[in-house]
Amino acid sequence: MVECVAVRQRLAELRSLLQAAAHAYYVLDAPDLEDAVYDRLYRELLELEAAHPELVTPDSPSQRVGGPAAERFDSVEHRLPLLSLENAFNIEELRDWQRRLQRQLERGPDQPSLPLVCELKIDGSALSLSYERGVLVRAATRGDGSWGEEITANVRTIRSIPLRLQLEQPPAWCEIRGEAFIPAGSFAAINREREQRGEALFANPRNACAGTLRQLDPAVVARRRLDFFAYSLHLPEDTPGPARQWAVLAWLEAAGLKVDPNRRRCADLVEVERFYSRWDEDRRRLPYATDGVVVKLDDLRLQREAGSTVKAPRWAIALKYPAEEAPSRLKRLTVQVGRTGVITPVAEFEPVALAGTSVSRATLHNADRVAELGLHEGDTVVVRKAGEIIPTVVCVLPQLRPSGALPLALPQRCPACSAPLVREAGEAATRCVNNSCPAILRGALRHWVSRDALDVECLGDKLIAQLVDRGIVGDIAALYGLDAVQLASLERMGERSAHKLVAALDRSRRQPWQRLLHGLGIRHVGSASAKALARAFPSVDALAAAPPEAIRDVYGIGVQIAESLKQWFGTTANAELVERLRRAGLQLGGAPVAASAAGSLNGRIFVLTGTLPSLSRSAAKVRIEAAGGRVSVSVSRKTSYVVAGEEPGSKLEKATALGIEVLDEAGLLQLTTDATASPTAAPPGGAIPWQQPA
Ligand code: NAD
Repeated sequence: MVECVAVRQRLAELRSLLQAAAHAYYVLDAPDLEDAVYDRLYRELLELEAAHPELVTPDSPSQRVGGPAAERFDSVEHRLPLLSLENAFNIEELRDWQRRLQRQLERGPDQPSLPLVCELKIDGSALSLSYERGVLVRAATRGDGSWGEEITANVRTIRSIPLRLQLEQPPAWCEIRGEAFIPAGSFAAINREREQRGEALFANPRNACAGTLRQLDPAVVARRRLDFFAYSLHLPEDTPGPARQWAVLAWLEAAGLKVDPNRRRCADLVEVERFYSRWDEDRRRLPYATDGVVVKLDDLRLQREAGSTVKAPRWAIALKYPAEEAPSRLKRLTVQVGRTGVITPVAEFEPVALAGTSVSRATLHNADRVAELGLHEGDTVVVRKAGEIIPTVVCVLPQLRPSGALPLALPQRCPACSAPLVREAGEAATRCVNNSCPAILRGALRHWVSRDALDVECLGDKLIAQLVDRGIVGDIAALYGLDAVQLASLERMGERSAHKLVAALDRSRRQPWQRLLHGLGIRHVGSASAKALARAFPSVDALAAAPPEAIRDVYGIGVQIAESLKQWFGTTANAELVERLRRAGLQLGGAPVAASAAGSLNGRIFVLTGTLPSLSRSAAKVRIEAAGGRVSVSVSRKTSYVVAGEEPGSKLEKATALGIEVLDEAGLLQLTTDATASPTAAPPGGAIPWQQPA
């Protein structure tokens, strides 16, 4: 009963939100939600309605196509309803669709799959064009699927739509459907113009297209250079016509219409998947927007047999590209304590698939951001993740907030040590200032052993937690006092792993001073500034003794870093830590750092993917940087080389598609060796005072 009330309420909230969104989208051409967010909420509505069919209402967005016809134009009734498309968000859903279709057409699962046609889903506005004896007599928008707006005068300005079909014997009548769209360049120009006139900008090319088609002045439409791709044909019953979708597309082309050349006939879903994956990448280079692939049954007789639901044909489906934004329900607000004591709020929500990965948490930066979002318990939030960008919470949908939900805020005390949290005036960060907070120590250790710092393998988060929580390690220097027997007694540690860890720690003693400086985790000193500082000051003693002006003189180092260093070295506990590290045998200065800027790979950008046979990622990075190159995480046109090892990811595919040179480990070793040996590379000891530690 309680559940039923909750479902009823959620359904009502979803309907009202989706109805308002559809109005903004279809009628005002100014959406206030991302399409992907709308799609997910719409999917939630469908799922709830499927589980509770008794709660479906006739005005539900699931029972309607598009929006009502605007009153500014005459309404026209479509000869055949102009429907929407069902969506699939992944290949599994596409397979389900195919299974359903085969079943419906009474084909057994072992019968060969039916031939399919893949077309790009053009992100524009559906248009219906009526021709009589080959002459364009009427053009209409989709409207609510049954009634659309008559916009013939506007459509006549679209140059790619023939006013007369190029057919020797045109049929008595025919209806051609397709998608009008705004090419990428024109979209930017339209928005520039609107900005100059102080008008609201169109959110995307699709809304710009819909808005343009409904302009009252055809001259404005003509200026905006719309384009059109045809994709379907309806002929009188007694007129012979193509029997397959593939042939329809050829017919349309022959009749003088523009048909998207990026299409493919596929024997099965493996081929569909290949087409879809290829365009996931390549679509970014198209001069028009596409948000998926439409998969259609090729055989028109079978299409008729399969028929439609109230909303969409059963014989076609849109396989959408991975969303970059989606709604999700907040589970809780937690906080992380960083190695500098900074408290970072984290939103934990139900997992959502975004840009190809599953996302269930996003950091919210600080208390101000939490307040700005106005988060409440159980809120539905919009989460964004694009490509390799870290997930963020974009906004909250207050319309979907459970009644009586309490607002959320940062805790008053540190969750790790219970010390009161502090936020100084003028600072965005809230901090734990307890020096012996175990969370801060865990963070410091994690940072010390990380790849860019001392690069100690086999010391993961769980082991660090054990070492800190059992009081075995009280600071980073204590790591070097660990012995294999003691380590082997810890949970999930065998003798072998213990020995491996001791050996890895031992190796880290020989890491260069720049890495050690970075590993100390001094505020504002990242890996690049550590490198610059280590180059200028040959040892920890030289740096500790350097006056702030000398530090500020180092290229790339500012007042903030100089002050932070002064403060750090001025603290007795830190001075003691340095001494303990010295006694533990770490290199506190002197190991040469190659003059990266002068290497002959200067300015070249490398991207690493997969596992290299012998070099670790960080070792490869060191080599590249030593030769003057730079390592980036993602492949773009600017990438000079992709270094691929075993099991490379999509980066390799992207590199191949962009024609970027791909190296294996041997190739990288050769290139970096040649580069550092080349006469353009600055010899160690050149312009920079290289010295071994005293
Ligand atoms: P749709 O755009 O997802 O798919 C159907 C349409 O695709 C067809 O009507 C047709 O015009 C078009 N299409 C493009 N290329 C095609 C091809 N090759 N073959 C066949 N059709 C092709 O569905 P819709 O009903 O137009 O709109 C629903 C979508 O609109 C939702 O998925 C959502 O993303 C968006 N929407 C967004 C909001 C919002 O607030 N952001 C509100 C309402 C709707």
